Amino acid sequence: MTNFSDLGLIAPLLRAVKAEGYTTPTPIQAQSIPQLLAGRDLLGIAQTGTGKTAAFTLPILQRLAANPKRPGARSARALVLTPTRELACQIHDSFAAYGRNLRLKRSLIFGGVAQGPQVSRMAGGSDIVIATPGRLLDLIEQGHVRLGGIEICVLDEADRMLDMGFVRDVRKIMSMMPEQRQTMLFSATMPSDIADLADSILKDFHRVEVTPAATTVERIGQKVLFVERQNKRRLLVDLLKGETVGRTIIFTRTKRGADRLVEQLAKGGVTADSIHGNKSQNARQRALAAFRNGRLSTLVATDIAARGIDVDGVTHVINFELPIEPEGYVHRIGRTARAGAEGVALSFCDAEEVDHLRAIEKTIRQAVPVEEAHAYHAEAVRELHRAANTNRPGGGKAKRRFGGGRQASAKRPAQGQAARKARRGARRNRGFGQAPSGQRKAS
Ligand code: AMP
Repeated sequence: MTNFSDLGLIAPLLRAVKAEGYTTPTPIQAQSIPQLLAGRDLLGIAQTGTGKTAAFTLPILQRLAANPKRPGARSARALVLTPTRELACQIHDSFAAYGRNLRLKRSLIFGGVAQGPQVSRMAGGSDIVIATPGRLLDLIEQGHVRLGGIEICVLDEADRMLDMGFVRDVRKIMSMMPEQRQTMLFSATMPSDIADLADSILKDFHRVEVTPAATTVERIGQKVLFVERQNKRRLLVDLLKGETVGRTIIFTRTKRGADRLVEQLAKGGVTADSIHGNKSQNARQRALAAFRNGRLSTLVATDIAARGIDVDGVTHVINFELPIEPEGYVHRIGRTARAGAEGVALSFCDAEEVDHLRAIEKTIRQAVPVEEAHAYHAEAVRELHRAANTNRPGGGKAKRRFGGGRQASAKRPAQGQAARKARRGARRNRGFGQAPSGQRKAS
């Protein structure tokens, strides 16, 4: 199937999709939309960047519009549960964009802001509610929201919701809905607790798995910059003041690190703002809005906050610190190269991070090219990384895959704790070289 009209979507939705500029459905859209229109449950293994939001938003809109009904007071017909406020806002925006030619009422429910406006909006009922679990449960317990009329329910980013400790809230919310409903569960990963959750809430479901990593990663010019930790900040300022860097997201590992970096950049003459979980909802939205409309070209973010960043035209992602989880790398760099554009991802790697780099290269199944044309290139760190590659068991294969990097370890054995750590990392990464899983579909 190559176009949206083949999927069975009605004209108002086709017009909206066209207005968004989409010409071809993404794989998850092509594989899910017909099944969802037919009313089936769905298990979607997919991350952001795959087009999963439209994959569930379009069929929900169509099914609600096909059977117009006034939602009861304080009730809703469709519920989307998602882990963060930013994601909730984005999903809400997607419903608004794709539903522009339909008359369906939407409501947003999330914590960290006054509940009054959310309560009043729900008083008359709503066709679609997009909510984070904690605040939704709060409002249900106070009697402001009822779930007895839910016809369709989506759990979005289920793995993240469980990571954030929402499992009990989610199960409680699920138990309040009618048995007779359509349910979809989307998750980037499939650990056993998600598989258990899926088994308990989905019936006769269609399963779709898409792996965006390869396709997303292919469009991104990735580079690693080996640098001593104490030089990272100066290197960053140099890059940001360079001509080629446009709209940039910089990742740090911690919230404090993000704030500190914003201050340090200011001293270096670069204006930036940060977005992370300790900031108020208003401050986060202000920073994001400034970034989106171009008043601010540099945003410093932590991984959790980054889940909600969907800004087109991000030219650069800079990993000031590498993520501990290799999947986080794919997620971070996916903030650039949105919607088919190209992007650049630069990763700083110091001596303590060579293990993380190895794990990332194993996950993306390619070596990240090294950029040494900068004032702070640290050959010693690069040597550590080489040592980690060549010392791993079955190093011949690694050598080939990594573009035949020089065998550094025999002549110049890497010394000290960091090298031992790097070697331990190399041993752990024995599984390197698996074939990509590609796209799978099962019914
Ligand atoms: P998502 O995975 O839902 O976060 O979507 C990722 C991005 O892809 C969003 O910016 C969407 O606007 C965009 N998108 C979704 N579907 C399509 C499509 N069929 N063609 C082009 N872009 C799309």
